[in-house]
Amino acid sequence: MEPVGVLGRLAEWMEEAAVDAALVTHPVSVAYLTGFRAEPHERLMALVVRPDRALLVVPWLEEEAACAAARGVEVRAWRDGEDPWAVVGAALGRPRRLGVEKAHLTISAWERLQESVQEGEPVDVGAEIRRLRARKTPEEIARLERAARITDEVTERALRGLEPGRTELEVAAALDLAVAAGGAVTSFATLVQSGENTARPHQPPGDRRLRPGDLVLVDFGAAWEGYRADTTRTVVLGEPDARQRELHGLVLEAHDAGIAAVRAGVTAGEVDEAARSVLRDAGLGERFIHRLGHGLGLEPHEAPSLDPGGGTVLEAGMVITIEPGVYIPGWGGIRIEDDVVVEPNGCRVLTRAGRGLRPDAP
Ligand code: ZN
Ligand code: ZN
Repeated sequence: MEPVGVLGRLAEWMEEAAVDAALVTHPVSVAYLTGFRAEPHERLMALVVRPDRALLVVPWLEEEAACAAARGVEVRAWRDGEDPWAVVGAALGRPRRLGVEKAHLTISAWERLQESVQEGEPVDVGAEIRRLRARKTPEEIARLERAARITDEVTERALRGLEPGRTELEVAAALDLAVAAGGAVTSFATLVQSGENTARPHQPPGDRRLRPGDLVLVDFGAAWEGYRADTTRTVVLGEPDARQRELHGLVLEAHDAGIAAVRAGVTAGEVDEAARSVLRDAGLGERFIHRLGHGLGLEPHEAPSLDPGGGTVLEAGMVITIEPGVYIPGWGGIRIEDDVVVEPNGCRVLTRAGRGLRPDAP
């Protein structure tokens, strides 16, 4: 993966904030800033950023991959038995003000670090990294487009192939296999729910078998070079009944209203309200039990968050989901989710699979 050229922007921010060294430890932040994606588990991987240099400290077994992927940084591998914190301490060079990712660094790691820092309170560099990540570069958007294309192809094929008798777990496994066949990996653990299970937005797939007349909800995505699509479709196995049609029509209307409200300069709360008011006016306000959407990129959920009343101002280049839903315990739920890029005068929808209640209909 090519880096997205953001290390320099972080260094500029550090200069303005008078932070003379930063320690980046969250693997997603390291991937974003250097292009090197790895999951070091409990072993230390850290990026030391100083105005004049950046050093990526990795476990020895990651050295070759790090050198191949990480651009614009030196790589220093530590070997088992060596103290990686000594390597990090030397690279930090006793800064006056140290930046760390407060949401990620553990207290025990901080205790080790204090030996390297002259002044007390660290500065949070994590908030700035999240802010940078929220606004995608053209290269990042290209990866999300590719992820969306693969997701759309898998969605349309998989929904047409749904049959009574298969379990939710089997449907989820088939979706994952189709993503792999498309040359991608799944963005997160695929959700498949059927019947009354669709009323619980986060319930993982189980051994329930699909039955004629069931609502079936699939929430999944393909990831391309680390960038994750995230879509939801809800269909009916067979002929939908009147209530399924009515509620699906309202969620579709809310989805359209949310997408129509997205443009640079509006707040997250205004977009949420555009969709939420459709469901509230239909008497379903209390049945839309989550925010309208979230940012996505290297993680399936990242900034910005589209909360009711949220004051975050949307900016061109942000990529967000729009995913209204209604959930009625004992009956079921319907959610429709697509990924959009915020543009100056509107938005561009990246995921475009059919949103209909009948998988075989357009
Ligand atoms: Zn989703
Ligand atoms: Zn989502």
